[in-house]
Amino acid sequence: TMDYGPAPEAADHVREWLKAHAAGFGHFIDGRFTTPVADQTFEVRDPARDETIATVSQGSSQDVDAAVEAARAALAGWSATPGHIRARHLYALARHIQKRERFLSVLESIDNGKPIRESRDIDIPLVARHFYHHAGWAELIASEFPDHAPVGVCGQIIPWNFPLLMLAWKIAPALAAGNTVVLKPAEFTPLTALAFAEVCREAGLPRGVVNIVTGDGATGAALVKHPGIDKVAFTGSTDVGRLIREQTAGSGKKLSLELGGKSPFIVFEDADLDGAVEGVVDAIWFNQGQVCCAGSRLLVQEGVAARFHAKLKRRMATLRVGDPLDKSVDVGAIVAPVQLQRIRELVAKGEQEGATLFQADTALPQNGCFFPPTLFTDVAPASTIAEVEIFGPVAVSMTFRTPDEAVALANNTRYGLAASIWSENINLALDTAAKVKAGVVWVNSTNMFDAAAGFGGYKESGFGREGGREGLAEYLVPAWLKSLPKAEDVPALTLSALP
Ligand code: NAD
Repeated sequence: TMDYGPAPEAADHVREWLKAHAAGFGHFIDGRFTTPVADQTFEVRDPARDETIATVSQGSSQDVDAAVEAARAALAGWSATPGHIRARHLYALARHIQKRERFLSVLESIDNGKPIRESRDIDIPLVARHFYHHAGWAELIASEFPDHAPVGVCGQIIPWNFPLLMLAWKIAPALAAGNTVVLKPAEFTPLTALAFAEVCREAGLPRGVVNIVTGDGATGAALVKHPGIDKVAFTGSTDVGRLIREQTAGSGKKLSLELGGKSPFIVFEDADLDGAVEGVVDAIWFNQGQVCCAGSRLLVQEGVAARFHAKLKRRMATLRVGDPLDKSVDVGAIVAPVQLQRIRELVAKGEQEGATLFQADTALPQNGCFFPPTLFTDVAPASTIAEVEIFGPVAVSMTFRTPDEAVALANNTRYGLAASIWSENINLALDTAAKVKAGVVWVNSTNMFDAAAGFGGYKESGFGREGGREGLAEYLVPAWLKSLPKAEDVPALTLSALP
């Protein structure tokens, strides 16, 4: 058996590291931790223990100015660095992350509340994989994307559900393509991004190539509006995504948005039901359901619905909710009290709307932000819980009769991020996959990610892709665009100058 537990020394290192930074963290600008311009800070909390673990700076617009300036100054050098040298830097980042895998896993679990088994087996290994993969791309870019140039300075804003992994999804392709970045981590979970800043220094990344400014939505907004930014890459809620799209309209800034979802999980009557039950566990109880592509809408064919729900409920009773640092825990803490409150309100709404609630007799810790795995059956397709992204460990289940009805229900959503289809009939599965409008469709599996595969959505789930060749293209522009003369260099044409 594998030892999933945090090596005791990793937990000690994290405690020492937090103690060493007890006075607070500055922003990482131009290769060093700076003293923030305004003396404003906020507290970062461990949601499982309900205690403050760090004090972090609230980035002001002057801090954002300084970070963008550093990224601009570094751009000429970094974009002119040959691809194979940029690759060496990305390999170095990947190796340093691997060396610190245990430390980063424990830090991520303490900051976010996710089970250590997930941060150690999924999040952090995928972070390293993302940097390795894009190191390869840095080498290939000149031959694979001839006539392309980096976009320039990228403003990147990420959410709290996969803090370091979302950082990797943003920074690795940007750097591979020759861009420089200013990244703002989410206010609930900025710690692994700050640890990553230390990794950049240790690994000898040239200063100014990566800058990290912490803060809340106001800091993010300052970054989006900054005239020195050439591209905005955002992952987060659909509401904020919409705001960012309005704010960048007409600015000439390139934009990619990775937003919310309410992804269907379709179980046909010929599916391997036990396999599908394990799929649901992965789809909606992984990371406490705080996953943008969570299979949160179960669509089960009528003939097997009763059997499937019975199996699922038995499985729910075996899930352990508790201390994220306990290696035997399946479901950890919700990231923050405000998110827990939102989940509670939506669950109450579901009951009001007449859906049938099931929660196994799961023991919850006394303190901290915990919510038990939850299943709603008898859900009406037009009810709130069938439409709204709950972003918690709550699955809603509906039934269908025919494959056409399954497709219609699956597409009856404002989102289009992912879908999962379960059937032993491959023709039926593939035929259905082609008809579901979602950026990713998994067959007899769910939540599979790889650095080489593009990820992203349709409709209100956003646009643009991250990962793979298409993800890289988001960080490039045709070279002729960059060689256009600047507006101020073109002599003004007046009518009298015309023949
Ligand atoms: P959020 O939109 O509130 O916050 C995301 C980030 O945006 C944070 O860093 C936040 O500080 C920043 N922000 C907030 N207001 C801003 C503004 N006005 N201008 C600029 N930046 C601003 O979302 P959240 O609650 O942190 O994350 C949960 C949401 O993210 C869910 O809806 C989920 O589906 C979505 N999500 C999507 C993906 C994806 O890949 N599509 C991945 C993870 C999460």
